[in-house]
Amino acid sequence: MNKNDIFIIHGTDYKDMTIRLLHEAGLAEEIGDREKHIALKPNLLGTMRPEDGATTHPELVCGVIEYLQFHGFRHLSIMESSWVGERTSRSFAALGYTDISEKYGVPLIDLQKDEAVSCNTAGMELHVCRKALETDFLINMPVVKGHCQTLVTCALKNNKGLIPNSEKRRFHTMGLLKPIAHLSTVVRNDFILVDNICGDLDFEEGGNPVYMNRIWAAKDPVLCDAFVCDCLGIPVDEVSYIRMAERLGTGCADTSKAHLVFLNESTDTEYVEITGRRNSSPLPRRVQKLAGYTAPKDSCSACYGSLIHALNRLNEGGKLRPGLPPVCIGQGYQGQAGEIGVGTCTSCFSKSLKGCPPKAIDIVTFLEENWIQKRKN
Ligand code: SF4
Repeated sequence: MNKNDIFIIHGTDYKDMTIRLLHEAGLAEEIGDREKHIALKPNLLGTMRPEDGATTHPELVCGVIEYLQFHGFRHLSIMESSWVGERTSRSFAALGYTDISEKYGVPLIDLQKDEAVSCNTAGMELHVCRKALETDFLINMPVVKGHCQTLVTCALKNNKGLIPNSEKRRFHTMGLLKPIAHLSTVVRNDFILVDNICGDLDFEEGGNPVYMNRIWAAKDPVLCDAFVCDCLGIPVDEVSYIRMAERLGTGCADTSKAHLVFLNESTDTEYVEITGRRNSSPLPRRVQKLAGYTAPKDSCSACYGSLIHALNRLNEGGKLRPGLPPVCIGQGYQGQAGEIGVGTCTSCFSKSLKGCPPKAIDIVTFLEENWIQKRKN
C-alpha cells in the first residue's frame, strides 16, 4: 500500500469485510517480521455501544486478529486508555473486549495504568504512554464521527488514547487542537483501519448514528482525516489540527492526491432496514429531522449517510427551511425523471449530482447551488 492509498469496502458483514480489506491492502507484507509486537488501538472512549455511533465495532478487532494470526503473527495486544472519568477496564468488559482477549489469547493493555514518558513533539513537550511508544507496529482503529469541539474525530484524535489521563486534561488547557497535531509527530500510526460503519453526526459519545456501512484502510493519518472531512461535508481548513499536523510533516491533507481504491460497490440498502422502515426501531431524533428533507427509495447506506451529513452541515448553517422539495436518492429512481436528486441513480432528474456514492462535501455545494439558492430566487 502506498502512503496516499485509501482502500474502501462496503457491506454489513464487518468481520469478513475487515479480513478482505487487510488482504487487499497487503497488511502482512507491510508488517514483515513475524516477531514484531503489534498493537491494535480501537476507540473505546467509554462504555457506549458501537451501534450508537461512539466506539469501534469489535468485529473489526476480531477480523484483524484472525487475519494476523492466520499469517503467523503471535505478539499481538489491544491497547487503549478510555477518556477521563471512565476506567478502561470497564470499557473493555462492557464492549466485549475481555471476551475477545480470552477467545484469541490476545492481552489487553490498559494504558491508564502505564508509565508516562516525556517526549519532544516538534517543539512541544508531551507525555506519552511507554507501551504505546515501545510497540513495533501500531494499528490505529478510529471511528469516523463528528465532534462538538474539533468538528471531526478520526485517526489523529484517536491517538489521544495513547497518553495518560493527566496529559488528556492538560490537552484541554492547551486548546486541544495544537497538542493533537504535535502528538502525531511521535506516536506510531503504521496502519489505520477506519470504522465508518455508523459514527455519530457530531458527538464523540454517540446518540445519533448515521449508517454508512464502510470500512477503510489508510497509511497517512492526515490524509485519512482530510478524507473524513470530505465525507462529513466539512472543509478541511475548518479543522485546524489537520493542517497543523500537515505542516509538522505527519502527512498530506490534499485529498485530490488520494488514490481511492473501492473494493466493491455500495449496493446494500441496510440503512433503511436498520433505521426503522422494516424493523420498526425509530431513527435517532436528529437524524429523523434531517431525513424529513429526503425522499429515499432503495438508497445504499453510504449514499444516504453522505446526504444526511450534508444536510446536517446545511442545517448548522441555518440554511434548511420548510417548503424545500425533498431530495430524491436511491436505486429506485434509476431511469426516472424528477426535480432534484443525489447520486448517479438520479441522473435522469432535471438537477442531479453524479457519484456512486457522492461525497458529502460535494452534496453540500450541489444543494446550496441547486436547491437552496434556486428556492430563494
Ligand atoms: S448512486 Fe445509487 S447505486 Fe450508487 S451509492 Fe447511491 S443509491 Fe447506491
